Amino acid sequence: MEDRKILIIEDEKPIADILKYSFEKEGFQVQCAHTGSEGFSAACSDPPDLILLDWMLPDISGVDVCRMLTERYRIPIIMLTARGNVEDKLYGLESGADDYITKPFDLREVVARVRTILRRFDKSQGTDTGDRLSCGGLTISEREHCVYRDGVLLSLTPKEYELLVCFLKHPRQVFTRTALLDQIWGYDFAGDTRTVDIHVQRIRKKTGLEDSLVTVFGVGYKYVPA
Ligand code: CA
Repeated sequence: MEDRKILIIEDEKPIADILKYSFEKEGFQVQCAHTGSEGFSAACSDPPDLILLDWMLPDISGVDVCRMLTERYRIPIIMLTARGNVEDKLYGLESGADDYITKPFDLREVVARVRTILRRFDKSQGTDTGDRLSCGGLTISEREHCVYRDGVLLSLTPKEYELLVCFLKHPRQVFTRTALLDQIWGYDFAGDTRTVDIHVQRIRKKTGLEDSLVTVFGVGYKYVPA
């Protein structure tokens, strides 16, 4: 884990400082930014391995920064927020965040969550076979972690990508929302099963698989090749 670089985008300096201190103590390299635009340019000029991103920033909202980043990079993002509202959580996750931590937080928990996400991210990168999987008019490049439709790169968030690949690799298998949450988001994930619904809706729209990603009423979802 050493030499991993974390970018903290947080306008409340005492919080940024204590996070920086905790992660440096754990052997991480840490950079802090105190506004959304400062954070965004820091991430662009020197992409970190993970970003801790505050929801309420003085200039651009954390959710918008998250969206701007996930459109360009595949960097895991954990949102920090004082809000506990479920709708806000879903909104944050919809913008591409990988996880969510509510303030006030336990520093050990933040470090543990960061390690979990980095591990999961490494694993998904590491299943690299160089192979391309084609189905439903889509081409998935696991090496690039990308999906193409008719040669055009689809803009998927990391979670949308993982969920889509999970469906495509298991045609006709019915997945419950809970199973998908456990598999894609992990057991310690703070959101609820509606997160899955939102992601499936977005994948349907983005991929054109409206008819193939089937809702199994009262159970979950399955992928049925056309
Ligand atoms: Ca703030």
